[in-house]
Amino acid sequence: MPINCAKCKKFVSDKEVQCDLCKCFLHSTCSGLSATELQCVKLKDRRINFYCDTCSDMKSCLAKVNEMETTIKRLEDEIINLKSHISDKAEKISTNDSNNEGLVYNSIVTEILDRQRRENNVIFFNIKESNKTTSQEQSQDDFETVKNYLSQVSTDIETSSVKCVRLGKFSNSKNRPIKVELKCNSDVMLVLRNKKKLTDGVNIQSDSTPMQRDYLKKLREKLSAIQESGDTGKTIRFINKVPKIVDVSKNIRKDK
Ligand SMILES: [Zn+2]
Ligand SMILES: [Zn+2]
Repeated sequence: MPINCAKCKKFVSDKEVQCDLCKCFLHSTCSGLSATELQCVKLKDRRINFYCDTCSDMKSCLAKVNEMETTIKRLEDEIINLKSHISDKAEKISTNDSNNEGLVYNSIVTEILDRQRRENNVIFFNIKESNKTTSQEQSQDDFETVKNYLSQVSTDIETSSVKCVRLGKFSNSKNRPIKVELKCNSDVMLVLRNKKKLTDGVNIQSDSTPMQRDYLKKLREKLSAIQESGDTGKTIRFINKVPKIVDVSKNIRKDK
């Protein structure tokens, strides 16, 4: 079978140059090789390969395909990593969310219960500690003093069932506040509205939760900032038991 040159398609007499891949033959002149290269290619145990034009095109294509395969594999790995990373994060976020919801719900419930527990209480400040010896006598002393103050504030307050307890540890240097449990919340409102009738330094405040105290503190800071800026027409009033900054001229409650 006659052998033709892969390039010029004409007969190749002595199998001059052979492609190492497709095994086709070329004339030396058709191979595009230099004289030195031709010498190398014609060596018997050569370590240098020769590829015809078609095969070297394919070779570079194959190399590119190989390169792309490697890139695709690397991208696949990265995507798998990212996916697991994202699902980890998403899991964490959703766990946090449900935890947060639970925490928020719990703290609201706790706050409501705390406010309910305190809503019939008022706190008396600056009532002198009893000088009686037994704690029973001291309690009786406090009870009588508180009843006396309450009747000064308003004669409408039901004082017989009032309960008193000193808050905190006894100390010689200060008078502990007294928590006073009244019969009902309307008595509390009555006391708070009329507490300014007491003139001997005794102060009465509502039994607020830490959150309520904090809120009122911030509101007072806001009010003093308003007043410092020159607006003296504002004040804090309790509207439906919630403190608010309002115009002094509006919402003035008449003392009962
Ligand atoms: Zn040829
Ligand atoms: Zn070839």
